[in-house]
Amino acid sequence: MPEKDQMVKKLLKGEIKLHQVENYTDGVEEATQIRHRFAQKISCAELEHLAQYSMDMGEALKRNIENPVGAIQVPVGIAGPLLVKGEHAQGEFYVPLATSEGALVASVNRGCSVIKTSGGAKVGIVADKMTRAPVIKAPNLREALKIRTWIEDNFSALKEAAENTTRHGKLVKIDPIVVVGRYLYPRFSYTTGDSMGMNMVTMATEAALEVLSQNTGAHVVALSGNLCVDKKPSALNLTEGRGKSLVAEVLVPREVVEKKLHTTVEAIVEVNTIKNLVGSAISGSMGFNAHYANMIGALFLATGQDEAHVVEGSLGITLAQEDGGDLYFSVTLPDVPLATYGGGTRLETARECLKIMDAYGSGKVDKFAEIVAGIVLAGELSLLGALGAGHLARAHRELGRG
Ligand code: NAP
Repeated sequence: MPEKDQMVKKLLKGEIKLHQVENYTDGVEEATQIRHRFAQKISCAELEHLAQYSMDMGEALKRNIENPVGAIQVPVGIAGPLLVKGEHAQGEFYVPLATSEGALVASVNRGCSVIKTSGGAKVGIVADKMTRAPVIKAPNLREALKIRTWIEDNFSALKEAAENTTRHGKLVKIDPIVVVGRYLYPRFSYTTGDSMGMNMVTMATEAALEVLSQNTGAHVVALSGNLCVDKKPSALNLTEGRGKSLVAEVLVPREVVEKKLHTTVEAIVEVNTIKNLVGSAISGSMGFNAHYANMIGALFLATGQDEAHVVEGSLGITLAQEDGGDLYFSVTLPDVPLATYGGGTRLETARECLKIMDAYGSGKVDKFAEIVAGIVLAGELSLLGALGAGHLARAHRELGRG
């Protein structure tokens, strides 16, 4: 105890840095307690809940966090059964959602019920790539164009260099190669196995650029030139895709719309057109949908995905059409970076949440991707139904206000 207090004093005086505490303690747990006590001192707050966790902080410190002081808790609910008819995910799944937004799990759950009664969600992965796009400087435009030609002519040499750094990463294409003045932005696209792949493709692209520089004298200004496009909303990602590009669809019989969603096919079609398409167009939004980010965010948080990628997963287009009297409803998500291996998926609670869907580890990412598409379909359908029926405010009043 006195030793810990001594350490806290040193931290407060600035005699040691937050990241140096491990150097003076027996292990990460003790170091975490000392930093936690430091946080209590500077805030004059108890912070008792931050200190309660069951994860192995030593393991987390190796890959997932620096200067740990504890862990947060977010309630997790499950929605389901979600009936999925995909290539990799087939059958009924219960899906964990971590959120503090009351009514979300209930709403997604209702969408699952509508989908099940309608025969299930048909889902598919339409593209799969993780991208890294460096920015390269040439002396002038003429040289920039020569470098672009060299990249196009020597794809196999670049591919070999990139793939030497990884067992699972495969360079699929370098496209587009955008030229701006004397700068080039080549977009390297990879498949990355069951990992999300950002670390993997960063290292692989670095190795490929060494070959490029040796052969052309190209100067790499930055390993990412923002054409990747990582963790930002982007029209390029919307059309070209990034991570998993997913589609899910369902044909909801008219009587199911009326009985379970308490609205009509026509009302849902109109709300979708006027809100998701026209409203998004006039606002300049790239999310032609009602709330993909709700399902993506809650599922990402539960399963240890990179939270910042919610911004990418929020992109996409919802279709609602009258089809022979019934409701054709689909969600298209072009940009969903996902993992069942690596990154935050190894954290204890993330692993458990992935296991609820039998989607943890090697060989599971395509299955997981199809479940993600299905759960977004469920949440989107339910909200559009609530808007069509004018029930949204009531649901939030009842479920979100205690
Ligand atoms: P990672 O955990 O760094 O790498 C995945 C590792 O798993 C690789 O070493 C890979 O080996 C191995 N692996 C074993 N079995 C695998 C399988 N079945 N499929 C795929 N890989 C397998 O994870 P990452 O996905 O590359 O990167 C994710 C992390 O990057 C996240 O923590 C994220 O927050 C972070 N991130 C980084 C950047 C960046 O710019 N660097 C940007 C955004 C996010 P091989 O490589 O030998 O195949």
